[in-house]
Amino acid sequence: MTFGCSRRRLLQALGTGAAAALFAPFESALAQTLPRNLVTKPRFDRDPFSLGVASGEPSADGFVLWTRLAPEPLEQGGGMVMRPMIVTWEIAEDLQFRHGLISGQALARPELAHAVHVEVSGLRPGRPYWYRFRIADALSTSGRAATLPAAGVRVDRVRFAVAGCQHYEDGHFTAWRHLAEQPLDFVFHYGDYIYEGADRGPSARMLNGRAFTPLRRHLGGETYSLDDYRRRYAQYRSDANLQRAHAAAPWFVSFDDHEVDNNWAADRDQDNTPPELFLLRRAAAFQAFYEHMPLRRGSMPRHGQMQMFRRAMWGDLLTTHFLDTRQYRSDQINADRDGVLGQAALAPERSMLGFEQEAWLHAGLRSDGQRWHAIAQQVGLANLAMRDRDSGQIIHSTDQWGGYLANRRRLLAHVQARGLTNLVTVSGDAHRHFASDLLHDTGEGPVLSSEFLATSISSGGDGNGQDDDFHRHTSALNPQLKTMIDRRGYLLCDVTRNVWHADLAVLHSVMTEDAPVRSHARFAIERQRPGLQSA
Ligand code: FE
Ligand code: CA
Repeated sequence: MTFGCSRRRLLQALGTGAAAALFAPFESALAQTLPRNLVTKPRFDRDPFSLGVASGEPSADGFVLWTRLAPEPLEQGGGMVMRPMIVTWEIAEDLQFRHGLISGQALARPELAHAVHVEVSGLRPGRPYWYRFRIADALSTSGRAATLPAAGVRVDRVRFAVAGCQHYEDGHFTAWRHLAEQPLDFVFHYGDYIYEGADRGPSARMLNGRAFTPLRRHLGGETYSLDDYRRRYAQYRSDANLQRAHAAAPWFVSFDDHEVDNNWAADRDQDNTPPELFLLRRAAAFQAFYEHMPLRRGSMPRHGQMQMFRRAMWGDLLTTHFLDTRQYRSDQINADRDGVLGQAALAPERSMLGFEQEAWLHAGLRSDGQRWHAIAQQVGLANLAMRDRDSGQIIHSTDQWGGYLANRRRLLAHVQARGLTNLVTVSGDAHRHFASDLLHDTGEGPVLSSEFLATSISSGGDGNGQDDDFHRHTSALNPQLKTMIDRRGYLLCDVTRNVWHADLAVLHSVMTEDAPVRSHARFAIERQRPGLQSA
């Protein structure tokens, strides 16, 4: 909830303890909307902005600004007095906050863990802004946001990053620090922002076929309650590199599975928990996700659901369709395990997107004069074949689009029927970089599109590079796969009028804090000529 700048006087007066009755009648209505339990003179012994700042969901005239008051982020309630407080926000046209300064006030409420979501509007299109927050004598760090270009205007270039899968125990978030130094118009976080698992103690476990001792440890057990999830987000969000990346550019976020539970699908988890019970857990997870992300009010959980599929346009250059491949999907076949794709995968009533989202996506995927379309989603569309270690059979992931083959066929048939030769998909989840062309699962017909599946920020630890059986088998079985690597990093996309450039960034280690970033591979896609080209 936000208040306009003109109401500041009123709030200041309230801060001195004045009663609503002192105000002119037209103002008393507003005074009545202030919480009766408002803390008018908050005091903090520690920095209440310990979780940093963020911006997201840019439009042509604004964006969302986020922070959460948490002087003791790992304590219950974040160390806050459980009453509402007023936070001041400031936006300027320069980092020094000298030009075009505007400010306003927002309520941080205990119901939302004292998170603040300010939806700013009325700004100029296609330019950066800087923002910060104040409460009492505390000042937050400054972040950089940006508005989208005005609808339809000519845009020559958009640069964005794709990243996700940031297991806190598996490695440092060094990739976020490198990413924060890139000139970016936005970041797409495909999901696995947290992992729900319990602290498993200091001893080694298996990772990539080797014993691995956790670099850092989760606090507490597996997350179930709202307080569990809040504490997990607070732990992750305390990471300085992650905070830098949030402050550097506006983000579009989506959840994948681990924000709730591994491989969940709509109202099902992987453990046969009764749906009505799983939905209680999902509701707690959704609330904590909303509380910690720069999302618009339109995505606030309502009746246990979140509206997450949406699109954004960068002038005439790029339309991005952000999907939700978890909330409406049919349960996985083959008990979630990789397997042979039989008739079950082709059952037309099974869906990855749900039929409402599918219709929405198809309506938006059309030749409309945009130079490029992008699908930004969570799990691989490429449907890569794998070799079963024991039986030698060809198998596929059933959690990715291959397990929803009828839905994949409808999507690619739509792309082909509409003659969309300017579509690129970005995704994640597999903890490796994959760059693939997209073809019908029968292997027949032309290259229809391409997918960059971004590797993880830290999940999987240092990884095996290009030296393991999975790499050898999968390379041999998938001619449409142009490269892959098991290292940590992120994807950079540099979209211009006629060519889409992609750079697969990797770090050789996430066990040290200062590993440099390098480019594993670069690709180019020409508009009107689908298919990856080495660049
Ligand atoms: Fe992951
Ligand atoms: Ca995942």
